[in-house]
Amino acid sequence: MQLFAIFGDPVSHSRSPLMHNAVFKHTKYKACYTRVHLKDGSQLRETFFRLKLSGANITVPHKEAAFNACDEIRGFANKVGVVNTIIEENGRLIGYNTDADGFMYAIEDFQNIKKVLILGAGGTAKALAARFLEENFYVEVLNRSEGRLKFFQDLGCESATWNDFKVSTYDLVVNTTSAGLKDNALPAPKELIEAVLETTHYAADAIYGKVTPFLALAKEKKIPYKDGADMLLGQGVLANELFTNRTLDKKIITKYMQQSFLL
Ligand code: NDP
Repeated sequence: MQLFAIFGDPVSHSRSPLMHNAVFKHTKYKACYTRVHLKDGSQLRETFFRLKLSGANITVPHKEAAFNACDEIRGFANKVGVVNTIIEENGRLIGYNTDADGFMYAIEDFQNIKKVLILGAGGTAKALAARFLEENFYVEVLNRSEGRLKFFQDLGCESATWNDFKVSTYDLVVNTTSAGLKDNALPAPKELIEAVLETTHYAADAIYGKVTPFLALAKEKKIPYKDGADMLLGQGVLANELFTNRTLDKKIITKYMQQSFLL
């Protein structure tokens, strides 16, 4: 029997255990998926081995710590230094990032996206910015503090803090901050959020399971929006493929994960 887990702080809101366990159960794959409330990201590697895990997902705020915990990084995660999926291979930890492709799956039905404003500059923002640039989108990043913006400038994005931001027009505004996850905060002062929502065609939030204050405002302004549920599904399907070493069909994984949302 293999054991998988999600690490995060907070982690009690996570639907990942439901999603992955639904796939394991219905496909008779001998595995179980649990959640681990980890406060200190530097303890990730030791905790992974102590629990004898075969693989894990990593959520807020440990995705950058997860990158450092790995022995080898594969694929897109190399580009961004952010890991949301770890697989144990012969005593070594291999890190991947499935968040960015999960988000591209989520916005498949948004038309003509060329210019995107990302709210936040954490791990998720890094993954999305790098992935958007691969699609040749114009990317701007707006964050509360300046410290994390250099990564985005080096990547070729425009960037600003709340103090020096000038509103432009956008096709999509994405909230990747954790504002609204545990509280009722907006990702930036209300007048800034109202101004960007006035000029965008679509809005999206990485947070799922609730209408965040950001999405509530988008809804009020009649802007088509998505919460993070499809992103969660997209990244989860790709992570499950890695967990099961691609022995399961992607369509089957998607079906059982979607069903778990109804539980
Ligand atoms: P990080 O901790 O790496 O980054 C958090 C970011 O949010 C930072 O830019 C931080 O700004 C900003 N922030 C935090 N609190 C506030 C606030 N009150 N107001 C404004 N900005 C704030 O987090 P992650 O990138 O790992 O995750 C971000 C969110 O995305 C989480 O809510 C997570 O649950 C969600 N997520 C959802 C996924 C899905 O599948 N649906 C997948 C991945 C993430 P500063 O730099 O100033 O501290």
